[in-house]
Amino acid sequence: MKGKMKAVVKTKPGYGAELIEVDIPKIGPNQVLIKVTSTSICGTDYHIYTWNKWAESVIKTPQILGHEVAGIVVEVGENVSKVKVGDFISAETHIPCGRCYQCETDKQHVCAEMKILGVHTDGVFADYAVIEEVDVWINDPSIPPEFASVQEPLGNAIDTIYAGNVAGKNVLISGAGPIGLLAVGVAKAFGATKIVVSEPNKYRQDIAKKMGADEIIDPTKEDLEYAVKNATDGIGVDFVAEMSGHPVALNTALKCICTGGSMALLGFPSDKVSIDLTNDVILKEITLIGVTGRKMFKTWYIAKRLLKEKRLDLTPVITHQLSLEEFDKGMELMKSGNCAKIILKP
Ligand SMILES: [Zn+2]
Ligand SMILES: [Zn+2]
Repeated sequence: MKGKMKAVVKTKPGYGAELIEVDIPKIGPNQVLIKVTSTSICGTDYHIYTWNKWAESVIKTPQILGHEVAGIVVEVGENVSKVKVGDFISAETHIPCGRCYQCETDKQHVCAEMKILGVHTDGVFADYAVIEEVDVWINDPSIPPEFASVQEPLGNAIDTIYAGNVAGKNVLISGAGPIGLLAVGVAKAFGATKIVVSEPNKYRQDIAKKMGADEIIDPTKEDLEYAVKNATDGIGVDFVAEMSGHPVALNTALKCICTGGSMALLGFPSDKVSIDLTNDVILKEITLIGVTGRKMFKTWYIAKRLLKEKRLDLTPVITHQLSLEEFDKGMELMKSGNCAKIILKP
């Protein structure tokens, strides 16, 4: 397709981004072009926008921001058979090579040559975006369009909670950022008995309540370990979903797990973290599980079922709907923490 489009572009290293006109991108034989209907802001986009150390080491400017997306297919490459013009799709954001050991042994989501949409390639905060055929997810007609782009971070939450096999168990969600909040709803849908949430931000505490949290603790005001033991007959939780990446939160969460329990870690600490392996992991036989991305496409099927059967309502987590032009406002909201998922519409 020929022509121009508007896009949020990181034009040069440093803070911020610009809304500018660029060419509508051309697709390759294994790609599709979509007319973007909605996107959502992720922590990753915020890191690229504010240009933290990680962004500086990975991002090559100029680059279009964004990776959480839904849209209508307007053009397909010559080898594409999975999808046709007019289909309403969302996108997986891990772009696997298809040839490495992980790709050939059912672990495409941790491909050794992994590229990530909007990190290693141009992203989706634009009128049009290029999606690899391997990443196409055809949306079920029952999925509300405003939820469509949020299925990607929902997948992170599902993959994390899935790791805890939580039915009938007591669970701690450590950190109620957007994915932590989604994880509360997922834990509820998966049949967790008691869901304790640790989160200092009042705005997010209120959303956690709406998503089904049974107990919410502000770890800056209360002793989390004591409160968790109190909420679990003195036993501790069976499983922790560590979503914050905060070293103190991570250490405290380890102390909240009962002996023999497990913890899945999704939140990235920005530096190395010191933990008491002997007392908090080895002697307690704690299983630690790293989670990155979501399974292609097992997690997406679970997301679809939860939404289609109305076992999960994402409405409380979608706190703002802005136009693409208002991306600076979206990033300000991210900075304040008084938001969960922010939708951007071109
Ligand atoms: Zn994301
Ligand atoms: Zn691979």
